[in-house]
Amino acid sequence: MPGRRLSHSIIHLACWMLWFLLTGSALAVQNRPTAFVHANLIPMTSAAVLPDHTVVVEGGRITAVGPSGTTGIPANTKVVDCRGAFLMPGLADMHMHLRYGWTSDAWPVSPLQLYLANGVTTIRCFGPRGKTGRYGLTWRKEIDAGRLDGPTILTCGPMLRGHFSENPEHIVIRQKYQRFDFLKIYSFVSLDEYREIMSTAKRLDFYTVGHIPFQVGLDRVLAEGMDEIAHIEELAWEASSMDRQRYFESEGEWMAYAIQTTFGQFGPLLELPAHQQEQQIDGRVIALVEKLKKRPIPVCTTMVIDDLIVQKLTDPGGFLEKPENRYLPERYLEGFRKGQEKHQLQFKGGEAFAPFKYLLDKRLLKALKAADIPLLLATDAGTGMMGAVPGFSLHDELGILVDNGFTAYEALAAGTVVASGIVKRMKGQDDFGTIVPGKRADLVLLEQNPLEDVANVRRIRGVMAAGRWYDRRAIAQMLDG
Ligand SMILES: [Zn+2]
Repeated sequence: MPGRRLSHSIIHLACWMLWFLLTGSALAVQNRPTAFVHANLIPMTSAAVLPDHTVVVEGGRITAVGPSGTTGIPANTKVVDCRGAFLMPGLADMHMHLRYGWTSDAWPVSPLQLYLANGVTTIRCFGPRGKTGRYGLTWRKEIDAGRLDGPTILTCGPMLRGHFSENPEHIVIRQKYQRFDFLKIYSFVSLDEYREIMSTAKRLDFYTVGHIPFQVGLDRVLAEGMDEIAHIEELAWEASSMDRQRYFESEGEWMAYAIQTTFGQFGPLLELPAHQQEQQIDGRVIALVEKLKKRPIPVCTTMVIDDLIVQKLTDPGGFLEKPENRYLPERYLEGFRKGQEKHQLQFKGGEAFAPFKYLLDKRLLKALKAADIPLLLATDAGTGMMGAVPGFSLHDELGILVDNGFTAYEALAAGTVVASGIVKRMKGQDDFGTIVPGKRADLVLLEQNPLEDVANVRRIRGVMAAGRWYDRRAIAQMLDG
């Protein structure tokens, strides 16, 4: 029955064309070249803005960059007129957490979309929750194939917390075999376990990121050659002397101890005027940073968490009124209203320590920057536990870096070109963070120059993630949920 077969294929073709027209499918866009023309280009290879430039994208990659007058555009190209706007690389949140619930109703809008809508095109998960944590790898495949909207995902497996019920060597080997991008080591790993983890990781050429486990300490972390430190805050705990042999059952117990001990030691400083507090802190900070200078190890900033802690404890009403908090899980906000939120509990009775801890982290940030330690833009968002809204909080982090002595270019570099260089160490591939031919097409089109005011990263006209273009309307739809 050839006639029926023919009508079948015509129906099939018609359906396909209808689908193509209605969805304006991401895949279809990816297959057609895109050219951004007449842009003020911020390639992030230097602090320069290149006026009237064209960027051509094909197959998810940047294929040409040059002055609009001399840069050719292939036939059948979708053209985005960028007159008056600024085109920069997409941002990376270098320390965040994936949660399985992201794609459920627990979040009003999936953080995968919140990231995209905020110009964040790379996210690096520092510990998925769940037994295997492999959903991050699945999402990555789905996003790469154009079946799911989201940034490029890098992820470790379940973090190595300590208190192991199996040989840590086996966990390291298994996670490497499961193709996770790196290992995350947590605070409760003992010294023996730490040595075993590190030697196995080195043998397998597996990148290691971690807290500074309290039994291990900074000196041994540096000696064992850990590749990266997960928070500036980790160094703050090093500035106080604690009983390193204590056993902790839970994170809550450990944090309470760390806060109380550090607060106890630094408490008398709170009586001093601000500049004297800074002097005293700097005296302790210098010694720590000197150690890192001898073996420069990248550190994730995650300063926005300090900022949030202070806000949550001192101005809870103001915190609840932040417009972007409507994207947090209702369960979190409910807990906060009841005073049962993570930091409300951790700092109970030690609220005065929160602004001091923030000051300590700020002095560390300044000293690390002055010592040329690579600093990575990061928020620790995504858990739905701390009030950091995915995507939005990365813009806050940029503002905090600028408030603490970074130029706008330096702050943006921490989330683009510097981040990409560290991912190259991790994966052997330098794939994003600058606008040059060959890189993944991760781009953000902004209304105003972010090098003049870093807050301009919030004024987004469009985002391209791995060659897929989301215009203003698509972004508004994502944020509407
Ligand atoms: Zn984290």
